[in-house]
Amino acid sequence: MELVDSHCHLQMDSFDRDREEVIRRALAAGVVDIIVSGFDSISNFKALELDSRQLLHVTLGLSPNMKRNESVEFIKSQILENVEKIVAVGEIGLDRVKSRIPFEKQKGIFKEFLSLAEEINKPVVIHAREAEIDAIEIARKYDVECMLHCFNGSFKALRMAQDSGYVVSISTMVAFSEKQKKIAREVEVENLVIETDSPFLSPKRGRNEPAFVKFALEEISKLKEIDEDELATFLTENSRNFYGLSESGIF
Ligand SMILES: [Zn+2]
Repeated sequence: MELVDSHCHLQMDSFDRDREEVIRRALAAGVVDIIVSGFDSISNFKALELDSRQLLHVTLGLSPNMKRNESVEFIKSQILENVEKIVAVGEIGLDRVKSRIPFEKQKGIFKEFLSLAEEINKPVVIHAREAEIDAIEIARKYDVECMLHCFNGSFKALRMAQDSGYVVSISTMVAFSEKQKKIAREVEVENLVIETDSPFLSPKRGRNEPAFVKFALEEISKLKEIDEDELATFLTENSRNFYGLSESGIF
């Protein structure tokens, strides 16, 4: 079985002491591609510094939950300087819950990155929290493929995303969240990918890691009554299509 962790933060400090072991465990669990997403200037740098072996793929962006004052221009230059190395722009997006940036300003920044992604012909990884419909309505105005990472919106937002042909990513949260289970039942397999968002959202105690993406697969397989192997094939193909990864994998 081949799995893709469609979104995680393997570059973060919490993996510094045992990143190699974490990658080994992911490989042992059948993970063939890991998408490492940047969310600010430092995490973008750290993502680029990771060993560029075949299973690691990088996206660069600026989260609406940025901690420090970040320069949009600087992040844009990081993206432009590394166009050949990245598989998408993101995470970028809108957040009504956690962001300290005024919503209108978030929208402006989001649009700048969508326009850059359109220009460099890369897909976009969107973080949207209580702002899914706003994000979709804005993104639709650009000619870009979008993935709504860690989707936790309404059924209306889900329909809009699917009608736009967007990819919906369900995280390991599906193992313990009733809302996530409802979304998983509703989403079309054609639009679905899975992720860990590690080190966050662990389905167990403690830190999440890419190997745990299999728990999302197991849960969704039960909820949708689709055989695990068959489901894994669909999800892996969806991820690879979205990020433009080769079919060859590492084996
Ligand atoms: Zn994330």
